[in-house]
Amino acid sequence: MKVAVIYHEDFGSKGHSVLKHRIRPSFEALARSGLLEGDKVQVFEPEPAPLSLVERAHTPEHMERMRTESYNRQYYDVALLSAGSVLKASEMVARGEAENAFAYTGTAGHHASPGSCWGFCYFNDLAITIMRLREMGLARFLIVDVDPHFGDGTRNFFGSDPNVYHINFNHQQNSNFDGKNNNYDVGIGFDAGDDQFLRELEGSLEMAKNFDFQICFVVFGHDSHADDYGGFELTSAVYPKMARAILNAAGDKGVVFVLSGGSVPEVASKAIPEVIAVLAGR
Ligand SMILES: [Zn+2]
Repeated sequence: MKVAVIYHEDFGSKGHSVLKHRIRPSFEALARSGLLEGDKVQVFEPEPAPLSLVERAHTPEHMERMRTESYNRQYYDVALLSAGSVLKASEMVARGEAENAFAYTGTAGHHASPGSCWGFCYFNDLAITIMRLREMGLARFLIVDVDPHFGDGTRNFFGSDPNVYHINFNHQQNSNFDGKNNNYDVGIGFDAGDDQFLRELEGSLEMAKNFDFQICFVVFGHDSHADDYGGFELTSAVYPKMARAILNAAGDKGVVFVLSGGSVPEVASKAIPEVIAVLAGR
């Protein structure tokens, strides 16, 4: 199979109130696209991430706040299911059951640190997933976080781990490369357009080309669209180009897209099927 799409209807009904309205329309657009009709792209349902893993990634105090504080508690189950979606997508790619994957989510993950979270994030899906993949024997990972907001939670997990190469787009005015720890912060300010974004993406992938990794994760926030809330000014034309650039850079390694920020149904309904089409080789 070329692409495993991991989807659960709870993401659209119980997901974070900012993020959830795009879920069902974009999944229906994916169905209308015809991509699900062959055997190249198949849809799977996730299970909640196992608590044994989540509790190893996060502090007991954090877990307690997620279970007891009303604002967090309302998203507790869907946040576990979201992490489970990323976990399933990644396990399938790691086992060779799918070449690439797209994980839908109802909450995001990149602002979740070991002991805190913000910005529609509760559990760090990639930290949980990388922990599991390392148990399976994988060691080195490339993360391309194209969500315009700085992925501070993921950085707090992996900032001093040179076996996780973290490309991290953000709103700063300058870029910063930490070659010792393999962190590249791509600061492109506010109002960045398609050309600047793609140029910086290709430059960052070029810088990472000698990093030997086994799986590439893409933290896919389409809040970078001009009509969405994230402060870049991208158009819909950029997302398939972005996916193609990342796929080219990944070579024969699997790519796992993780749905991150973004709220506008029309943006998601165009971007998600087009990205999946690229992952499927169309
Ligand atoms: Zn964002």
